[in-house]
Amino acid sequence: MNSKVKQIQVIRSSMPLYEDYIEEIKDLWESGWLTNMGTKHQQLEADLMQYLCSPNISLYSNGHLALENAIAAYNLTGEVITTPFTFASTTHAIVRNGLTPVFADIDPDDYTLQTENLESLITERTSAIIPVHVYGTICNVKEIERISRKYNLKVIYDAAHAFGVTVNGQGVGNFGDVSMFSFHATKVFNTIEGGALTFRDSNIKEKLTALKNFGITGQESVDYIGGNAKMNEFQAAMGLCNLRNIDMEIKKRKVVVERYYENLNSVEGIKLLKAQDSVRSNYAYFPVVFDGYKYTRDEVHELLKGKSIFSRKYFYPLTNSLECYKGSFNTRETPVAKYIADRVLTLPLFADLSLEDVDRICEIIKG
Ligand SMILES: *Cc1c(COP(=O)(O)O)cnc(C)c1O
Repeated sequence: MNSKVKQIQVIRSSMPLYEDYIEEIKDLWESGWLTNMGTKHQQLEADLMQYLCSPNISLYSNGHLALENAIAAYNLTGEVITTPFTFASTTHAIVRNGLTPVFADIDPDDYTLQTENLESLITERTSAIIPVHVYGTICNVKEIERISRKYNLKVIYDAAHAFGVTVNGQGVGNFGDVSMFSFHATKVFNTIEGGALTFRDSNIKEKLTALKNFGITGQESVDYIGGNAKMNEFQAAMGLCNLRNIDMEIKKRKVVVERYYENLNSVEGIKLLKAQDSVRSNYAYFPVVFDGYKYTRDEVHELLKGKSIFSRKYFYPLTNSLECYKGSFNTRETPVAKYIADRVLTLPLFADLSLEDVDRICEIIKG
């Protein structure tokens, strides 16, 4: 008898068959070329361009540095309008570039940057908007496009959650000037650690490539003050393997999500994210908002933990309430974001989560 209680983590990384990865990295022992945009890197760029339906792409060692580089590439100044309902990375990337984040509230239904009052936050110091697609749900890209054109602002999407999502058949990375995708182990598609930028203007490619490699532009020329954020060949090899299975992975996630819906959709006091018209989701996360339910979010979190099931308060806390930002800039109150962050919980979701486990999780929640 197995006396160990079965644990269910909130996420389980997608991995290829061991043999497939070994096969993929074999030639690295022949070439001895381990990083610096080798053949795996080039192949993954080409394959991702096709998968994401994006004409321009650049790969990185992780999503966060990709976002920092995207911001650096446009020489932004002053203020950037963004959302506090995100991972610390988004706000850090802005602040680490010497810019001031201006926090807009979120939409109460899809939790992305709210666009109705966005224009009132624009000043002559504003240089960009950095919205975040959350959970696989897409921002109001049309309205953000209109506003950015009107005020001549750059738009950089944090698309860390949105790998493979399409809007009217169009790859989500085609909106705005740049989109950042994260390929971290916990994301829908992973290269262990890794990330990418897709971008509109092919002229920026050279600068982006240089910025991730110390600003080097030629054998004897260094034109930018760049850092080091290159994706290595072992990461790229993992990406090539995982990309072969991605459609199946997303399909399996969809089945899990549909089961959650069946179980929780009509429960009073439990609010689920609605599917968006003409958006093909990637089912990245399953957020549940406990609003007037018999248990609070924190109680459900503990209840599940007591059964060795791990959920995540995500996103919580809001980035405009992080300790490290106290006193550094105006952290503007964002009441809708606060309301959601205090009540949201993401439930376990990964391709191989069994439907029996989903039912069990929901039974515990329904208590
Ligand atoms: C994961 C994530 C990041 C950071 O990506 P890494 O690849 O982990 O560096 C940034 N923003 C959001 C919203 C994320 O979920």
